[in-house]
Amino acid sequence: MTKSKVALIKCASYNAEEVHAAIMRGFDLIGGAAAFAKAGEKILLKPNMLSSADPEAAVTTHPSVFEAVIRAFADTGAKLSYGDSPAFHKTSQAVKKCGYDEVAKRLNVPLADFETTVKTEHPSPLFLKTIPLAKGALDADGIVSISKLKAHGLTRLTGAIKNQYGCIPGLTKGKYHTVAPMVGDFSAMLVDINTLLKPRLYIMDAIVAMEGNGPNSGDPKKIGCLIMSTDPVALDATACRIVDCNPHFIPTNLAGEKAKLGTWHAENIEIVGDKISDFIDRSFKIVRSPAVMVYGGGIAKKITAQLSPKPVIKSETCIKCGRCVEICPVDGKAVNWKGGTDRKSPPVYEYEKCIRCYCCQETCPEGAITIYTPPLSALLPALAFLGIFAGVAKMIAKRTIRFIQGKK
Ligand code: SF4
Ligand code: SF4
Repeated sequence: MTKSKVALIKCASYNAEEVHAAIMRGFDLIGGAAAFAKAGEKILLKPNMLSSADPEAAVTTHPSVFEAVIRAFADTGAKLSYGDSPAFHKTSQAVKKCGYDEVAKRLNVPLADFETTVKTEHPSPLFLKTIPLAKGALDADGIVSISKLKAHGLTRLTGAIKNQYGCIPGLTKGKYHTVAPMVGDFSAMLVDINTLLKPRLYIMDAIVAMEGNGPNSGDPKKIGCLIMSTDPVALDATACRIVDCNPHFIPTNLAGEKAKLGTWHAENIEIVGDKISDFIDRSFKIVRSPAVMVYGGGIAKKITAQLSPKPVIKSETCIKCGRCVEICPVDGKAVNWKGGTDRKSPPVYEYEKCIRCYCCQETCPEGAITIYTPPLSALLPALAFLGIFAGVAKMIAKRTIRFIQGKK
């Protein structure tokens, strides 16, 4: 079996020339920029522009990395464009704040259409048959995904695979959390987006990552490398190993391997460039337990609501902007103002309604929402197993009764 090649390239700062040299070295290791873009082809660059944030906050792909990738493709003759759809802010505002607008105008790279949605059929999805995608992503002949390494409340880590969620335009993204409330299904949907759009190359900005309360309100943490691969699962698995998180605990890795998008197994990955041991950071703040959720009705739902990691609001930090209420995708809102209208105190949660998508935590502009993991949440995997066991037992019992009754 051919191993998936992952290039690890040391890069100590966001100095434009240093990043450019590192990106060029990475391309040399994986076959050159011309292997991913031919003259005249329309190539979309997809940075992580989660929100309108200063580049130094480590929320978004740094503009120096974005610029270095543009420069790397300059000699291929490809027609570059770029785009992403932030979770909350207007794109026109975000491209300026994130530093892409200045770079793109200087290097003559237009913004692609991420406002128009095109419903697209997936021929063989893991989870979602019809996916609403940005026209700008579909119009491209090829996509180069430029993600940011960050801790994430729902999927533990956000990187190469999750980056393409931004190809679902605007607030439509939130709705898909209710379509796929279980983290396994949600991860399968993320993989479906990747197998449909088929980015040609994945690049990760891990020069300064985000630890802790990611993906929007965590703390910058220097790792000092760029990661490049055609296999997003292998890339994310390598990022996991760097931050000392078991790749097996990341549901997008499991779904990605199931869909044959790539591999997370170390024995199937060849690392070229610098040694992974130079970057491993065991102090990186990330949840190092499997992402498991058990949902059902009645008592199972009540228990799960109590045991699942839950978003909580630090009242002293909350500015009562209402963004969490607005973004919550659940009908009737799982986080809302007291009595539905009282904006004098911070919003409150109804955990039994909450599907734990963490969109509220992701979009809070003040970092006032953190994720609290109840001590007994370690019991959830066992409950999941018991839930499956109970389901199978019920099915066997039903079939046995039907057999005894002489029915098929
Ligand atoms: S988004 Fe954050 S700051 Fe705004 S109301 Fe919600 S918790 Fe408070
Ligand atoms: S309250 Fe927060 S975590 Fe719960 S469903 Fe709403 S947005 Fe998602």
